[in-house]
Amino acid sequence: MKYVFGPVPSRRLGMSLGVDIVPFKTCSFDCVYCQLGLTIKKTTERADFVPIDDVLAEIKEVIESGKNVDFITFSGSGEPTLNSKLGEMIRKVKAFTDIPVAVITNGSLLYRKDVRDDLISADLVVPSLDAISNNTLDKVNRPCNDLNIDMIIDGLREFAKDYKGKLWLEILIVKGINDNLDELKQMADMIRDLRIDKIQLNTVVRPPAENFALPLTNEEMDQIASLFDDRVEIIADFDRSPKNLSQNDKSIEDRIVDLVKRRPCTIDDISNSIGLHKIEAIKHIEHLLKAGRVSQTTLNNKTYYK
Ligand code: SF4
Repeated sequence: MKYVFGPVPSRRLGMSLGVDIVPFKTCSFDCVYCQLGLTIKKTTERADFVPIDDVLAEIKEVIESGKNVDFITFSGSGEPTLNSKLGEMIRKVKAFTDIPVAVITNGSLLYRKDVRDDLISADLVVPSLDAISNNTLDKVNRPCNDLNIDMIIDGLREFAKDYKGKLWLEILIVKGINDNLDELKQMADMIRDLRIDKIQLNTVVRPPAENFALPLTNEEMDQIASLFDDRVEIIADFDRSPKNLSQNDKSIEDRIVDLVKRRPCTIDDISNSIGLHKIEAIKHIEHLLKAGRVSQTTLNNKTYYK
């Protein structure tokens, strides 16, 4: 499978079949907390990155195999709304299955009507908003030069007005970067009148792109949650230990450990050798690091696992 990964268990979405429709780290942001590393291609230009028929064939194959899938989720290794065929893909998926379709987006392109139109037929859209001022946006999301906070907020407002599906807003808070309580209070006030179903607060729980991107404590997250109305929930999972791994996941992780025992490997090496999508390889490595079964080292700006 080239474009589809999983289904992977997701706390929010159940068994989520990931659909990756942009090249690795192609994004309009370069967030300090990104678990995929630094952005390789920072752009706001939409393009037809992948062959749509191949993507649809892979989704169909997984569904027909009878695997349990709760959501078909466009997310993955970059910003999915940069794919100019996103709307067509969502409509075509919905024509052959009743499984709900979700899109996880950084929300930066919602100011564009074509992007809002593309998302309209999804069942669930999860946009992010991590700042309410340009200064904080620049610090936490490091956007393309042609984006600013007014465009992003106006885009979210417009979308929330027209969209009929479920809308969950995710706010990821990084210690000392976007945790100013006055700004977060302003954000809570701005969101109050928007037709959003859930406000989900998160913090840095996965290895971030920048090592200065640090998490908040449980208590700090609770304090921030108290600024928002009753749609708020904290989704940061402070204990992501691999307690409930399936037999299949266990055997994949054993194979990764065997591989990196022989020689230190990058994520690309692991993904190519085991035949895993890069995002899945990253998730397994995250488990293995937490479990202390692998360690990481950096050489010539590349991260190796051993
Ligand atoms: S976290 Fe998401 S929006 Fe931010 S750089 Fe990574 S892929 Fe892009």
